[in-house]
Amino acid sequence: MPVLWRWIESESLITFVKGAGLISLNQDEGGATVGVKHAHSGTTAYRADWLIGADGANSSVREMLGVSMEGPVLAHMASVFFSADLDSVLAKPRPLLSWIYNPDFCGVLIKHFDDHYILMSPFITQEQEMVRLGASYWSRMIPKVIGADVPFQIRTQGNWSMATQLAQVFRKGRVMLVGDAAHRFPHTGGFGLNSGVQDAQNLAWKLAAVQESRATESLLDSYEAERKPVVALFAEQSVSNHFKLDEVTNHLNITNRGLMSATKAFETAPIKWLPSKLKGRFADALMKLAFSKTRQLTETSARAHELRSRIAQAVPGQLEHFLSTGLEFGYAYSGGLVIPERSMQPKVGAGVVDYQPTTWPGCRLPHALISRGGVEIPLLYVIDKRKFSLITHDDVGWAQALLCLPLPYVSELVLIVAVPSKAEDRAELVSLFEVGEHGAILVRPDGHVAWRTTLPGMNAVGDLEQVVRKLTVSYRRKIASAVVA
Ligand SMILES: Cc1cc2nc3c(=O)[nH]c(=O)nc-3n(C[C@H](O)[C@H](O)[C@H](O)COP(=O)(O)OP(=O)(O)OC[C@H]3O[C@@H](n4cnc5c(N)ncnc54)[C@H](O)[C@@H]3O)c2cc1C
Repeated sequence: MPVLWRWIESESLITFVKGAGLISLNQDEGGATVGVKHAHSGTTAYRADWLIGADGANSSVREMLGVSMEGPVLAHMASVFFSADLDSVLAKPRPLLSWIYNPDFCGVLIKHFDDHYILMSPFITQEQEMVRLGASYWSRMIPKVIGADVPFQIRTQGNWSMATQLAQVFRKGRVMLVGDAAHRFPHTGGFGLNSGVQDAQNLAWKLAAVQESRATESLLDSYEAERKPVVALFAEQSVSNHFKLDEVTNHLNITNRGLMSATKAFETAPIKWLPSKLKGRFADALMKLAFSKTRQLTETSARAHELRSRIAQAVPGQLEHFLSTGLEFGYAYSGGLVIPERSMQPKVGAGVVDYQPTTWPGCRLPHALISRGGVEIPLLYVIDKRKFSLITHDDVGWAQALLCLPLPYVSELVLIVAVPSKAEDRAELVSLFEVGEHGAILVRPDGHVAWRTTLPGMNAVGDLEQVVRKLTVSYRRKIASAVVA
């Protein structure tokens, strides 16, 4: 957070107000007004043309809009953030995640930077010790995980719900939701932060076009239409990873399915009617009973050896949980801002683990290094942030083609000639682009491919004209309405 804050503070276009909380939100046709309460100095009203709710899983913006979340809560979690020197306790290099199974505690230890860690565990009901006692529970439990003689310092602790939920709508009038405010996944997959950044990237260029009066508001409808199917895939994968862990832990009789059933049972009659104290004790005893089989993990008997080896055999099957580059980078948008391809071979379905770079329409333009003024630079850095970039190896052919397009269409395009820094890399770059020596790829400001062709520029002028007309339909409406006005 401090790194982000420093960046934001140095950005002259941003007024950054720290220690302030949203208390009211009203919108009309021209914009939104928010009331903000400052930690020390009263309240302020801010007026904006557009408002983006990026205020996390318990979003006040979402609540004030009256937008509900759709989907189930899978588990309740408690976690503690602490610092300790665990170099002598953990394997080297420090593992990112360590699953802890002992008769007192079952959960996950997450490595953060330096000597910071998060230890977390599910609970069944709020009345359990873990929730009721908070820091004092963790002070007792941390030594049972890291060793009684290792000093530690608790920084914060808290509870949260692991859910798989999407907001009913991502936009209401002048207000948009991004990140956890729009979707919540189980942490099993690590899609949360990434997908929030992708939301912002999808929305930013559209909002800029509308704000700068280059396009009508209808362009913003594509935000939810494009992002919702992608985040639904991430949610599905995270849930699948969560329950697939049972293949490892069912050998200990501890499963996420069992946890979900117990959680539901405690929220249902007759257990939910039990007096609080009894309910808490009952849940604590149930968990303790479930953890008891973990005793075998440290035994030397043949049975214990067999148990450990069954668990070890189930671990490689968890690969998708930890490696999902295929899904994170390989998803494709569809809809009005992507021209579907008919003539070429259909794209092979994106896998979860392996990312297959492709310029298939809707996909993210693959990473490549090109030369600009003698300097090697990633292609994704040079695509235009406002207009559509037409990327080709054939500068002469496509420059000629652009001369044949109507002027309003040309003004929406930027021609980028992809020259590799080393001549010997040319064949590789041509093959990566998948459009041959003379074709071209049309890329949106967010780096996603809108259209591609293998035809040389002069043979593709008619197609390009139709494509740009379709892609900029909301832009032209704006121009037309300005002319009428
Ligand atoms: C245990 C755990 C492990 C995770 N691991 C991963 C991982 O490996 N990879 C990954 O990609 N993601 C992971 N995530 C998810 C990731 O942390 C979130 O998806 C991400 O932080 C969401 O970003 P956000 O900006 O949408 O919301 P947040 O990070 O929650 O930020 C919201 C901000 O809004 C502020 N705010 C809230 N309400 C108000 C209000 N009323 N007024 C003013 N400000 C307000 C908050 O203070 C906060 O600063 C994990 C989450 C958890 C809980």
